[in-house]
Amino acid sequence: MKYLDEYRDARIARALAAEIVQRTTQPWVLMEICGGQTHTLMRYGIDELLPREVELVHGPGCPVCVTPLETIDKAIALARRPDVILVSYGDMLRVPGSHADLFRAKAQGADVRIAYSPTEAVKIARSNPSRSVVFLAIGFETTAPANAMAAWQARREGLTNFSMLVSHVLVPPAIRALMTAVNKRVQGFIAPGHVCTVMGCGEYEALVRDFGVPIVVGGFEPVDLLEAILMLVKQLEGGEAKLENQYVRSVSQQGNLPAQQIMAEVFEITDQKWRGIGSIPQSGLRLREEYASYDANRIFDVGEITVDEPSECVSAQVLQGLKKPTDCPAFGVRCTPENPLGAPMVSTEGACAAYYHYRRHAVAT
Ligand code: SF4
Repeated sequence: MKYLDEYRDARIARALAAEIVQRTTQPWVLMEICGGQTHTLMRYGIDELLPREVELVHGPGCPVCVTPLETIDKAIALARRPDVILVSYGDMLRVPGSHADLFRAKAQGADVRIAYSPTEAVKIARSNPSRSVVFLAIGFETTAPANAMAAWQARREGLTNFSMLVSHVLVPPAIRALMTAVNKRVQGFIAPGHVCTVMGCGEYEALVRDFGVPIVVGGFEPVDLLEAILMLVKQLEGGEAKLENQYVRSVSQQGNLPAQQIMAEVFEITDQKWRGIGSIPQSGLRLREEYASYDANRIFDVGEITVDEPSECVSAQVLQGLKKPTDCPAFGVRCTPENPLGAPMVSTEGACAAYYHYRRHAVAT
């Protein structure tokens, strides 16, 4: 297979689905980690092709969804300072903080700008030497190398008006937390192919060994996901637990070494709070001491912010595969993409948004 169309070929997809049906003899709960994978599954109705016994639940791999409420509130507080230009990816603007979102702060006069890459934020800093430019640096291992590169570049140039509000999360510690939870349901994981393109597959071997859980690194097209599901079902039905790589066209064992190198130079591993889920040990990245002067958390004093999630939003359970978006009483009624109560309804990778866009018929009444 060389071209994208082949990964969307209906004949191949149907054949894979038929083999999954034929191989399945008992119930299995599988989780795709990445929100991009969730959207493919919903968009192409892949879950509806599967036998009733194979249940797909959706994981915490939506970076916008797991960015803590405190970080959003902090970004809003920084954006409201007259000396600050707050730069963010577009998705983040409509994520609700405890009282507002960045979009509303912008409408009220805050200087909030959208960027498609962190280097744009560095450029804005260069062109506005009298203002402080803060980049809201969020995401998984996929965005960390580019964010690290932006900090490295700013330091190399001696830019003194650029900093980052960092909220980086890591996939393997999240899988470990899911597997040690008392209410764990997941029996097999589809690991995110883009994260493994950067980090390689090696990190997942310890999880397979420690928990006896099969993990298949999967891609993002319908055929990728059906093939990954089939690989998991074959392992589970055969009583095996192995690490397998379905996304071989992109993922190698060692990953992208230069990307890992720049990440290690700029960031260090730290405990990290995940929105709705709480703190997971060693599951995040923060700027190293050498980059302290580029760390918005250390430069700006916006006070200690502690806030609670809206009680109605069950996104914490959705992100841990314990509930489906349609189990939420607010889904499609008080919570819609136009008026979101929680981040998974806003993000292009959010599970609630995926259910809303592709499953309107399932809206709660
Ligand atoms: S539908 Fe809205 S309120 Fe319900 S879990 Fe999803 S984001 Fe939260």
